[in-house]
Amino acid sequence: MNAQQLSTRLMRVAAHVPEGSVVADIGSDHAYLPCYLVLNKKAQRAVAGEVVKGPYESARSQVRQEQLEDRIEVRLASGLDAVYAEDGVTAVTIAGIGGPLIRSILEAGAERLKGVERLVLQPNVHAKAIREWAEANSWTLSEEEILKENDKIYEILVLEPSEKPVRFSPSELLMGPELIKQFSGVFQEKWDRECAQWKRIVQAMESTVETAEIIGKKQELLEKIKLVEEVLHGEGT
Ligand code: SAM
Repeated sequence: MNAQQLSTRLMRVAAHVPEGSVVADIGSDHAYLPCYLVLNKKAQRAVAGEVVKGPYESARSQVRQEQLEDRIEVRLASGLDAVYAEDGVTAVTIAGIGGPLIRSILEAGAERLKGVERLVLQPNVHAKAIREWAEANSWTLSEEEILKENDKIYEILVLEPSEKPVRFSPSELLMGPELIKQFSGVFQEKWDRECAQWKRIVQAMESTVETAEIIGKKQELLEKIKLVEEVLHGEGT
């Protein structure tokens, strides 16, 4: 992978960035995504935010190597602290980290989302945390995508500010309203895998001492299995 040839996962994130955006890529690591967006004229300018020194240095050297220093600002900062009002950022990308961390970045940087028209988020796990944040903060899920690369399954969530309140059902929060509608083979595989894993955990719990914590955890897993099986098979089995 390099700034010209991204992984399929990052290519699909890039595909959801509107033409002509000013982009902030948070957790940019090597800065491949912002470099690709600017080189391919999808972004006019970009900010690459990175909290760890090593990846920050590699982002800087990548931007230098591509001779994009006048178009991409690399900043050592946590989350949306990398975004300044004068940047005029219109799209934020956050990819390759967990849903709960993405949610905490959005929560901590709420003020810096003013003027942002689109968030393109690719959580590695627990996308539900982002859908909960979207519901609580009136961002609508304009698109969702699921893909498989090197046997890993990734979800991409595209959010836009909503005038109206946003409400999701429990299965939509967990599995994604658009992904449920699409009902792709990869989507079914993801949730078959998750259900099988939860069932193994529940089974292992049967042979352990029943503490209140175990009972609560088991109940929670059984409810999730029921929810997912209702979507996959139209019933709780
Ligand atoms: N976004 C790239 C991608 O999808 O390929 C890099 C993903 S890499 C696994 C995650 C990066 O996010 C790491 O470089 C990490 O240092 C950075 N990161 C984690 N928490 C962050 C935060 N709060 N603010 C900025 N960067 C963060």
